[in-house]
Amino acid sequence: MITPELGHRFADDLPELALDWQAAEAPEPRLLVLNDALATRLGLDPAALRTPEGLRFLVGNDVPAGATPVAQAYSGHQFGGYSPRLGDGRALLLGDLTDTEGHLVDLHLKGSGRTPFARGGDGLAVVGPMLREHVVSEAMHALGIPTTRSLAVVATGAVVQRETPMPGALLARVASSHLRVGSFQYVRATDDPDLLRRLADHAIARHHPDAASAEHPYRAFFEAVVTAQARLVARWMLVGFVHGVMNTDNVTISGETIDYGPCAFLDVYDPATVFSSIDHQGRYSYGNQPGIAQWNLARLAEALLPLLHDDQEQAIAIATAVLEGFATTYVTAWADGMRGKLGLPAGLEERAVVALAEDLLGLMAANHVDWTTAFRALGAAARGDAEPVRGLVLDLAGIDAWLERWRALSPDGEAMDRVNPVYVPRNHLVQEALDAATDGDLEPLRQLLDVLAAPYDERPGLERYAAPAPEAFGAYTTYCGT
Ligand code: AMP
Ligand code: MG
Repeated sequence: MITPELGHRFADDLPELALDWQAAEAPEPRLLVLNDALATRLGLDPAALRTPEGLRFLVGNDVPAGATPVAQAYSGHQFGGYSPRLGDGRALLLGDLTDTEGHLVDLHLKGSGRTPFARGGDGLAVVGPMLREHVVSEAMHALGIPTTRSLAVVATGAVVQRETPMPGALLARVASSHLRVGSFQYVRATDDPDLLRRLADHAIARHHPDAASAEHPYRAFFEAVVTAQARLVARWMLVGFVHGVMNTDNVTISGETIDYGPCAFLDVYDPATVFSSIDHQGRYSYGNQPGIAQWNLARLAEALLPLLHDDQEQAIAIATAVLEGFATTYVTAWADGMRGKLGLPAGLEERAVVALAEDLLGLMAANHVDWTTAFRALGAAARGDAEPVRGLVLDLAGIDAWLERWRALSPDGEAMDRVNPVYVPRNHLVQEALDAATDGDLEPLRQLLDVLAAPYDERPGLERYAAPAPEAFGAYTTYCGT
């Protein structure tokens, strides 16, 4: 029997946001993938999780004594329009636990059946999108980017009706919490100052404890969230990640990436890149992500106003000042990352890094250069072989002039290879692995996970995992994780 002690801090502190609920019965659970290392870190025995009892725990059908699964209430701006009542329509917070490193984390299920927040939805999830979340979130983790983690994906044995009938699945996910900007929006709309204060205090204790002892704790809390999100989005931009659905319900207070739906990685660099089938206006395009993050944080600011100052005018002034700090924090984080990606000396000032990087990006966009390949090829150029990078660019005079400026700064190729991944979850590889898994062949998925677990170590025999999509793959479209 799997019996971790699951706490219920969220439900204890914020009962107004926690609705007791149970997972739907999974007819025939079958393990598709288990994250052994994460299980062990959580103090769970991977072998026990593979037993029938273990699977019943992973799908929420055997809840440890004392645990109280809940559906969480939240609101959200979706594509700019406000939905006052979203919440976990097909997900449950099983509880919290302290991992072997002493961190408090949430254990959460996605695809566990309808809840009172389900609106028209069936409460279910299917194999492909849940495996996509597993693959991409674990790749993000290996890349060193803050993210929720995936413990397991279990096929439920249910048939789920989508455009065609699909095999049902459930994701067991771990996060430092599931507090979202949308959690604050929901509470603000209740007009209950005590609840707002309790939510903020809960969030401060879990994620930004230094704010508690600041002169203005709620202002410091808001600053900490702005900083965490600015740094997170900078990391996305540096690795070429497009989240695809940056609604305020998908923005965490912790600064972890959450809710991998129509996400994808850039192949060719083009700031206007959109993968999601429903993002017709390009609201969540690659290049819009920093601006959208700031917009989302402005929605958090609105929710926090009553805590920032008793006088509304002054509260707005405080919120505006903090929000203005987003741009500086973002640019500094991005420039620091670019300094690393281009192997530049630590002392080179931010302005110089940004200017050099922007000129490179201009060349990359004009010449349709693959994002991930380009930075590895530049690593080779730093070590003396410019041919790989010259081979990517049609405008040879342009790249040669840029390389000359860059080489004058003595870039460090070895250091570059430690921060520029060889392997990212390229769309064609992810699609191939998910299609095979949906058809019952898990081997391509296992191989892909293995490659992505060490993204910076180039290994012989894995050339196809480093290569851009074959031309025949065409433009890639992703669909929301339904
Ligand atoms: P997401 O796109 O996963 O961030 O979900 C946005 C909102 O829609 C959340 O409130 C989800 O719980 C809800 N939702 C998404 N898919 C379903 C579904 N199949 N059944 C019920 N609710 C869903
Ligand atoms: Mg969501």
